[in-house]
Amino acid sequence: MGLNTTVSKADYYEVLGVSRDATDQELKSAYRKQALKHHPDRNPGDHTAEEKFKEASEAYQVLSDADKRAAYDRYGHAGLGAQGFGANPFAGGVDLGDIFGDLFGEMFSMGGSRSGTRGQRQQKGDDLRFDLTIDFEGAIFGTETEVKIRRLQTCGVCSGQGSASGRGPSTCSQCHGHGQIRYQQGFFSVARTCVACSGTGSVIGDPCTACRGEGRVANEVKLNVKVPPGVEEGTRIRYSGEGDSGRRGGPKGDLYIVLSIRPHDFFERHGTDLYCVIPISFPQAALGTEFEIRGIDGPVNVKVPEGTQSGREIRVRGRGVPRLNDRGNGDLIVKLVVQIPRKLNRAQRELVAKLSETMTVENNPTSPGLIEKMKDLFS
Ligand SMILES: [Zn+2]
Ligand SMILES: [Zn+2]
Repeated sequence: MGLNTTVSKADYYEVLGVSRDATDQELKSAYRKQALKHHPDRNPGDHTAEEKFKEASEAYQVLSDADKRAAYDRYGHAGLGAQGFGANPFAGGVDLGDIFGDLFGEMFSMGGSRSGTRGQRQQKGDDLRFDLTIDFEGAIFGTETEVKIRRLQTCGVCSGQGSASGRGPSTCSQCHGHGQIRYQQGFFSVARTCVACSGTGSVIGDPCTACRGEGRVANEVKLNVKVPPGVEEGTRIRYSGEGDSGRRGGPKGDLYIVLSIRPHDFFERHGTDLYCVIPISFPQAALGTEFEIRGIDGPVNVKVPEGTQSGREIRVRGRGVPRLNDRGNGDLIVKLVVQIPRKLNRAQRELVAKLSETMTVENNPTSPGLIEKMKDLFS
């Protein structure tokens, strides 16, 4: 950008892509969009992006100021006169730190979560994940088990303060407690996490020897985990505050127990329904029968109706898995598979042959109409 502001400059409203009667809020969000897109840190070495970023910043700075906006609306760029933009568009202008504050926060603090705004920041401890494998039955009826977790816990020697003498931390001299260092890069001010204090804003002059000033030490703890009935593969149980302790007394992270379930020899689970497959003999299927199986929650009586076809499913209501967040249970579904007899001896063979001779279309489970249609197939 040169000193001459009379060369044809882009219209400020066009730069931000808003209408001439845009509200302050519309201006702000349009600007945020532009600034995020063209920010030099996102487009290193791209001069076009840098120009666009400057343009958008300039446009926003004018249009967000009621007086300047009125002047601009009436007289265009010329209306800004000496108040307009020369070599440094930000000279004597609004404090851009305010405009950029949350913007930069959004862009650069994607790492650990922090609490507190200015001054001494307390970093929250990490969330932890523990993978726990439980039995099939345990997932259905609920179970209780002890797990060993390795985590960072508050240092007992310094009570998490990190300081040997108990004097506690002092304000970081590099960033003056802000945790960030702001510097000019070309036109705009950029914020970086302070290296001296890792963004906490404070330093320990006499670090505790037990935790080396961290305020926390690695430890193994036993925790009792209660698994409610009806959990599924991948269910997460959250234990608030059972994760890592934060640095120097910062808040604790959470612990997530992630469940995986051992398969069962006999039952398979689909949501809250249980499935099993039971083979039945050809005569049992033809004549019908009744038997008892060992369900997951006790004996289950299964009635096989006369003329049962292979693959038929018998639904036993309420004998499946309890619903985790609701009342009642799913169902037990028994799939019947008819076994065709093999290795018949002579007598059996004769019986089957005799049976075959007596059979008519009526005995066939397929509808008579379909048999008629199929006759052509067997010419
Ligand atoms: Zn300590
Ligand atoms: Zn610092």
